[in-house]
Amino acid sequence: MEAIVCTDFGESTVREVERPDPGPDEVLVAVDRVQLSVTECRLYQGDPIAHHETVRARLEAGDGRLFGHEFCATVVETGAEVGDLAAGDRVYAPGKLPCGSCRYCETGHEEYCPDKRGIGYDLPGALAEFAALPAAPLRAVPDGVSDAACAALQPFASALLCALEADISPGDTVCTVGTGVMGYACGQLALSLGAGTVVAVDVVPAKLDRAADRGLVPVDARESDPVAAVRELTDGVGADVVFEAVGGDQSHGTDGDGPLAGAFRTARNGGTVVQVGHVVGDLTLTPRHLRLRNVDWVNPARGVRQVGPNADTGTLAAALVADDRADIESYVTHELDGLAAFETAVDIGLHPENYDALGPAQLRL
Ligand SMILES: [Zn+2]
Repeated sequence: MEAIVCTDFGESTVREVERPDPGPDEVLVAVDRVQLSVTECRLYQGDPIAHHETVRARLEAGDGRLFGHEFCATVVETGAEVGDLAAGDRVYAPGKLPCGSCRYCETGHEEYCPDKRGIGYDLPGALAEFAALPAAPLRAVPDGVSDAACAALQPFASALLCALEADISPGDTVCTVGTGVMGYACGQLALSLGAGTVVAVDVVPAKLDRAADRGLVPVDARESDPVAAVRELTDGVGADVVFEAVGGDQSHGTDGDGPLAGAFRTARNGGTVVQVGHVVGDLTLTPRHLRLRNVDWVNPARGVRQVGPNADTGTLAAALVADDRADIESYVTHELDGLAAFETAVDIGLHPENYDALGPAQLRL
């Protein structure tokens, strides 16, 4: 079978490799689609962000079957100990593989396990025609989810965790700062969870149009001050919940003009700022600003979490997309054919503005 093999940072080839056999707790899947996350594109070019050392160690060991944690794949064979999945199931991977033996894992708090292994980082991912994957982090998706949406489901499942941890109350005014893949998802989920008004802030007209189509109130930050816009909508009070979904470099958390500082200014006294985006590097804070205004700064868990006896976030995310209670597919604007298009997909991920891309590119296998 063919697979992408990374030979160094920024260097890869499509290579013939041996088709893997699934272990007892694994499934063999035929990969239908892979979506290259922006994080993966940045890791591939060598940026020193989270997982960089893992990637470097694997490259140095000549073990370049990296990336491919967002995918749609069909189960073709199940290991002897796999009970939840069957041949023919289409699956995605909302979670990672907890170690199973630390204190967190032993007490039912796998989401906090410090030794989780990730598909595509610690384990070979889906940038191949077939992959042998641990069954535990996989979830089957219903028929109503297209292959494109299935490959885009993993970040949506992460957004669902963010939305649940925001603790939204009926009627809340919510603001999402940044309406990329994550912010767009958080905004729609806030409405589903009972928010009264959800403001979507961005600078890309196409994203603001999508947000408006889904019932969010678009604010173009190039034309008006988002903080003032939210204050005006709330009689000067501010938003109950703010999703900071831009991330990236910012010098200061609570002052200045970065997205996070803007998020704190947008929140009402006693409100909540949910950190959705990944802040790169360090920042300075003036804790007094948080303390005086009683603002909570929530850093949500990642992966999969049980939300009740009947559902976990991985299955719930798929169900919400299946019957169009949330749209993720309209951000899949670039679909490429074959593993050979990997480098182009990376370039789209790193420079979406050059391609008019709303979200990451997908490879159809
Ligand atoms: Zn553990």
